[in-house]
Amino acid sequence: MAKRDCYDVLAVGHGASQDEIRKAFRREAAKHHPDRNSGDSAAEARFKEVNAAYQILSDEKQRAIYDQYGWAGLEGTAGPVRQDAAGFSSVQEVFSTMQEAFADAFQSSFGAKIPGSRAGWPRRTHPLPRRGQDIQTDHTLAFQEALFGCTKTVVVRSEAACSDCGGSGARLGSEPETCMACSGTGDVSQSRGFVLFSHRCARCHGTGRFVANACTACHGRGALDVERKVDVQFPPGIPHGYQVRVADCGQPGIHGGPPGDLIVMVYVAPDERYSRVGDDLAVEAHILFTDALLGGDVTVHVPDPAGHDVPITVRIPPGTQHGSTIRLPSLGAPRLHQGGRGSMVVCFLVDLPAKLSDRARSLVAELNAELVASMHVASPRIHLAQQSGTPPDRSFADQDDAVRFLNGLPLRSTS
Ligand SMILES: [Zn+2]
Ligand SMILES: [Zn+2]
Repeated sequence: MAKRDCYDVLAVGHGASQDEIRKAFRREAAKHHPDRNSGDSAAEARFKEVNAAYQILSDEKQRAIYDQYGWAGLEGTAGPVRQDAAGFSSVQEVFSTMQEAFADAFQSSFGAKIPGSRAGWPRRTHPLPRRGQDIQTDHTLAFQEALFGCTKTVVVRSEAACSDCGGSGARLGSEPETCMACSGTGDVSQSRGFVLFSHRCARCHGTGRFVANACTACHGRGALDVERKVDVQFPPGIPHGYQVRVADCGQPGIHGGPPGDLIVMVYVAPDERYSRVGDDLAVEAHILFTDALLGGDVTVHVPDPAGHDVPITVRIPPGTQHGSTIRLPSLGAPRLHQGGRGSMVVCFLVDLPAKLSDRARSLVAELNAELVASMHVASPRIHLAQQSGTPPDRSFADQDDAVRFLNGLPLRSTS
């Protein structure tokens, strides 16, 4: 097939500017796009022809040679055009050129430079640098370590260059080849209508290089999993389930890209003495029922950064109910990234003695009688008495009568 004149192919004049050539390329490439001409081999040939013409005319050096000597001047030169046996590049190559030509359009509209586009950069023949992947791991902290912060060594598994092949992935004495599927760019473009999508090349996994003779140590990956130790700083006040991000400690970058991050998921071990609700710490204080009634003191412990629990005395208000709480400000958990501390919440649990001495029993009975007498407390035994026909809502003349009543004895005074 005789090669047509590049200017004819793009339908532009010999004095066309780069802008006109780029516009003409976009117009002609769209016209002969395989999606629009499915199964039409003539259209595919035109499509490739358009690309070849654009490759030459968009490169001022090649254009000058072409203008002077025609196609003959470019034969045998290492130009940017990778050509097949028929003298044309692959459809794949055309897609790639189209993508760049469209990228140029964006660039001129927004003034931003797009890496890999023609203007300002040489044509891309290497994979783009990629950021390394993040590594996720988890780490359990003791309750107080999470409370006051700490630095811990976390062991992570990540990739490192294989020492056998120096990271090339190829067996000793052999070299990786440029991947044919993506022409060494690591990306494959596909068109949907007139939109081009890029995705990672499956043949070379985006490396741009294909290993035919794989290294036996890393099986061609060029990398091996290694254990690494990273010192991670956990700030004070970390709650259970919090994620700490350590910059640049993830998988190494690919093709000179930056490394990923290490993300540590924090688990906080429960503590026997304290529990945590937000920035507040809760602690239980067991008190005797007499202290609950009369008031008194109880000792509770407060965690401190040195790792010792500090005893403090808490006043029990008279008439304290079982399960009631008091709040001690600024003795709770440190507030993450904010400074200050939450509250310590003391929960009173009223204990009853399991066994009573004879004297204690009679004193409690006496107390009960007094309470019933003075407060008209509806005692369960009075309810029982009501059921058996005793007049309801009794009051007693004195404490002795109440005790007699509770013990089933006849009362001294009649009500
Ligand atoms: Zn590839
Ligand atoms: Zn290797």
